Amino acid sequence: MNILLTGGLGYIGSHLALGLLKNKKTKLTIVDDLSNAKLSTKNTIKYLSKKKFKFKKLDLKNKNKLQKLFKVGKFDLIFHLAGSKSVKESQINPKKYYENNVIGSINLLHAMIENNVKNIIFSSTATVYGLHKKNCYSENFSREPINTYGLTKKIIEDLLIDLKEKNQINTLILRYFNPAGCHISGLLGENPQGIPNNLYPYIIKIIKGEVKYLKIFGNNYKTKDGTGARDYIHIQDLVDAHLKCIKLVKKKSDIFNIGTGRPYTVLDIINSFKKYCNFKINYNFYSRREGDIDIYYNKISKAKKKLGWSAKRGLKEISQSTFNFAIKSK
Ligand code: UDP
Repeated sequence: MNILLTGGLGYIGSHLALGLLKNKKTKLTIVDDLSNAKLSTKNTIKYLSKKKFKFKKLDLKNKNKLQKLFKVGKFDLIFHLAGSKSVKESQINPKKYYENNVIGSINLLHAMIENNVKNIIFSSTATVYGLHKKNCYSENFSREPINTYGLTKKIIEDLLIDLKEKNQINTLILRYFNPAGCHISGLLGENPQGIPNNLYPYIIKIIKGEVKYLKIFGNNYKTKDGTGARDYIHIQDLVDAHLKCIKLVKKKSDIFNIGTGRPYTVLDIINSFKKYCNFKINYNFYSRREGDIDIYYNKISKAKKKLGWSAKRGLKEISQSTFNFAIKSK
């Protein structure tokens, strides 16, 4: 099978590439614009997989290059992960998000339809749901994103759903909760440049000794200890969910939440590093981050029933693999 993976050198993309390359019959082409990924990740994927694959530095906004790629590629399936993903940045620079995420995806869909490529699995986010009264989110919740990042993902979902209804494509949409953890080798993980916004990349900086303590945003949320609670899904479980989609996408278009169904607070996570890695994370409490929700997690039943997938790993595996990666990338 000929597979195109967009955003394939990023945190999720690189782990998915390794998962895809395990299948001997897969011919993989990775594209990435390297805006939030390092070219050296290509060599790490090669080293860990011991397999050959094609890589092209490509910005999805470049329609001509994309057309050429599709003419040569003869793809059966697209995993579309490329996109900008910072909630904070999307509020400051929405234009970048409309261009990178929406226009990039339109160009990709255009190339697919022109070249008669039918199947696409799209990396969406639970951020599309926005705020709801219930904490346990299911796929039939209304989508009311509260930031531009979430809105761009919703727009792309709508394009996919419309094209599916017009029989132009088959699509599976995966709405991720909070991906975390790293490859077992300790050679792949999330390591953004500069000061990270998200919790785990920030903790990685603390383990590496680049930052002294964690700023916990809010200690008066309606959770067991007052700190925000999220559904952290191990990257390897996330990869396994994608691999399950390969067979299904040709038969049925659908939407799945991908999370564990178990929320953990920021303090749970800090304690897990002490418990499983004997590493103490220092912290201070700060005021709440704008737009943050107390607690939300996935209602896991749909993916379990229809995709035959559920998460196997928990906080122990997330903490240990994160710690291993941080130490090795010091
Ligand atoms: N968080 C924190 N300090 C940080 C980053 C995040 O206390 O430096 C908290 C945040 O308030 C939330 C949780 O950690 O309760 C997860 O935040 P993240 O940005 O990783 O995910 P999201 O809020 O987008 O689900």
